[in-house]
Amino acid sequence: MRIVVTGAAGFIGSHLCEALLDRGDTVVGIDNLLTGDIANVAHLRDRAFTLMRHDVTQHIDIDGPVDFVLHWASPASPIDYLELPIQTMKVGSLGTHNALGLALAKSAGFVLASTSEVYGDPLEHPQSEAYWGNVNPIGPRGVYDEAKRFAEALTLAYHRYHGVNTKIVRIFNTYGPRMRLRDGRAVPAFMSQAMQNEDVTVFGDGSQTRSFCYITDLVAGILRLMEADTSDPVNIGNPHEVTIGEIARAVIRLVGSTSRIVYRPLPVDDPKQRRPDITRARTLLQWEPTVDLEDGLLNTIKYFRQRATR
Ligand code: UDP
Repeated sequence: MRIVVTGAAGFIGSHLCEALLDRGDTVVGIDNLLTGDIANVAHLRDRAFTLMRHDVTQHIDIDGPVDFVLHWASPASPIDYLELPIQTMKVGSLGTHNALGLALAKSAGFVLASTSEVYGDPLEHPQSEAYWGNVNPIGPRGVYDEAKRFAEALTLAYHRYHGVNTKIVRIFNTYGPRMRLRDGRAVPAFMSQAMQNEDVTVFGDGSQTRSFCYITDLVAGILRLMEADTSDPVNIGNPHEVTIGEIARAVIRLVGSTSRIVYRPLPVDDPKQRRPDITRARTLLQWEPTVDLEDGLLNTIKYFRQRATR
């Protein structure tokens, strides 16, 4: 297949491109490098891969046939969307509109990268796809959460009105190589601090929970979803729930660091708990995560160490 991936130079986008190439697809990546990094796709240069430097909030022009459009472009870390609130809203709305328009024009399938943030600070636990969420539209995270909620609504409008073959993946916290060490998310932040024996900053009292999925597990789930016969959203994430305090301690131990944990104020609207109900993914996709948290953290530490010595 010939597949367009927006956000191709990002953390998840670059792994997705690589997995598609590995199974024999041709990939046209698009990225404006706002939060992506060309280094993430440098190793794909000699393969059936091209990278267009383009902002998908502007009309997307691609010559030739396209079988699938995977819409991954967006700032995705809380500090990114706090610094880039308008770009975040534009890529989720205008960018999704353009990506869907491309899929319609090419009679291609479409996959939207949605997020567990559509559930906000959830009042139901774990979160199944049937839960409508608890989002503060005017809080600092609202720019991301509402853009993704709008993107889901627009995706289903294209499915219902135009008959586009659309899929929606709700991605829960994911980690692994090619995250940016300084993107502010918990796993890279703790690793960066632990590797330098600096204080590890836990926000709040560290009792809030997340469920961390290793990148290769996530990508395997997305590839299966592309083939699935459903336009309903599907949660992809690891149901193994841990507190942020536990993750901080695990990172310090696995790095072999002398860092201490220090506590900082909890950001506004920071969800208190998050764990995917993956019944739908298990049933529809016969998918479940296989990488153990400790193995995934060790692989990620190895990547950051290699980068630091380069
Ligand atoms: N967090 C933290 N210290 C940091 C970065 C994040 O304690 O240096 C916390 C954050 O408040 C949240 C959790 O870790 O409760 C996960 O944050 P992240 O930014 O990775 O993703 P989120 O799930 O909030 O989108």
